[in-house]
Amino acid sequence: MEGKTHLMGGLCMGAAAHSYYITEVLPVPELIVFYGSCLFGALLPDICHPGSWTGRKAKVLSKNISRFFGHRTITHSLLFLILVYWLTSTFTFMYYETVQIGLLVGIVSHIVLDALTVRGIQLFYPIPLRVRFPLYLKTASKGESVISSSLMLLTLFFVYKQMFS
Ligand SMILES: [Zn+2]
Repeated sequence: MEGKTHLMGGLCMGAAAHSYYITEVLPVPELIVFYGSCLFGALLPDICHPGSWTGRKAKVLSKNISRFFGHRTITHSLLFLILVYWLTSTFTFMYYETVQIGLLVGIVSHIVLDALTVRGIQLFYPIPLRVRFPLYLKTASKGESVISSSLMLLTLFFVYKQMFS
């Protein structure tokens, strides 16, 4: 999927988590941190792709991950989720739990969306098993536009639900 679809996915899953999972009212700065983490998490797995937004921001790391692991392997796996959980549990800083939840939500949204593409993902890396949904589409196709628009509508629904319930 393209970066903009992943951003939409991160925003949508963040809004869903905000509606159903986070029960307390968050102050505005923490809300910004939460949604920022969701968006960053939604782009982070593509660090394995040097041409992606995260790949361009961390060129050396991205090239090395790409060289050693390839595209859509470790950074699109359950192992990556565990690593990010572990790393974000290691350090404590302001709103670290909010950052942790946001990053994990964003990464999950990325993994789910890439599992909808022809190429699929290696969810159980290092086990080389390609995982994809029975219905899948090509990146940057009309199908992706439909997914992106649907995510936007769903996000609006979750925001509406959050504001008026
Ligand atoms: Zn990806």
